[in-house]
Amino acid sequence: MTQQIQTKFLAFSHSKSHNGLPGLAIETPDGFFGLTKSDQAYPGDLIDLIKAGPTALSDAASALRQGQHIDLSAVTILPPIQHPGKIICIGLNYVDHSEESGFVTPDYPTVFTRFSSSLIGQGAPLIRPQASTQFDFEGELVAIIGQSARYVSVENALDHVAGYSIFNDGSIRDFQFKTPQWTVGKNFDGTGAFGPVFVTADSLPPGCTGMTLQTRLNGKIVQSAPIDDMVFPVAELISTLSEVMTLEPGDVIVTGTPAGVGFARKPPLYMRDGDICEIEIDGIGCLRNPVQDEELAYV
Ligand code: MG
Repeated sequence: MTQQIQTKFLAFSHSKSHNGLPGLAIETPDGFFGLTKSDQAYPGDLIDLIKAGPTALSDAASALRQGQHIDLSAVTILPPIQHPGKIICIGLNYVDHSEESGFVTPDYPTVFTRFSSSLIGQGAPLIRPQASTQFDFEGELVAIIGQSARYVSVENALDHVAGYSIFNDGSIRDFQFKTPQWTVGKNFDGTGAFGPVFVTADSLPPGCTGMTLQTRLNGKIVQSAPIDDMVFPVAELISTLSEVMTLEPGDVIVTGTPAGVGFARKPPLYMRDGDICEIEIDGIGCLRNPVQDEELAYV
């Protein structure tokens, strides 16, 4: 048996003063190495590589390891996929979070959607909008589809996952609960942090079983849960969703948050300008974002 090398990809763009071009990097024991779109050996965007399949991903990893050292403090880290075809989010997927939110644990996944206009990458500010002070954190595991999935059994579902990442499903609570549909409260600009890396599925336990998620606000642990506590594990989510729609390569499934969110606390704990929110999943990494008040839109 060959030794499994963990494969972590990171999407970035150079600063405008450099060349402003996007690039892709891979983690190595000596830091991140990568290539920029203008390089001849640039393998393409992550979404194109995912669409092309596992061989394209492993060939890209080899090419990127031969690239330049990437100083992460000198580039903008982008979400692993900036414009997914679908961003499917699951609500109430941990028993204790359903309880704290005043909901009954569902017998069918609660599905809502996000749009790519809400996405930000590692280090970019989470934006507390002018319209509300109820800006809440939700640490979540992300599964990214590799192979098209339609009518997939639970048993075969994980064959359709290309890899995993981390998400902060930042929620504007008063807007979320204005109506039974949560779409508005989940789609303010700059509220969906995604990244920092894409980890290939073969680098992690099937469905991320045995792994742990932790959310910290200003260094204090506010959420901590085993991934195994999900009501509908990744394989079940894919199977169930595939009964409804074709899941396509690069589609993103944001799998739900455990207990500890701010609005369920007494008193409530909302994110404010200057806060730092971190979400860590062992084996994947740590998604870290500062919080910033939205600047006045009208002057
Ligand atoms: Mg959520």
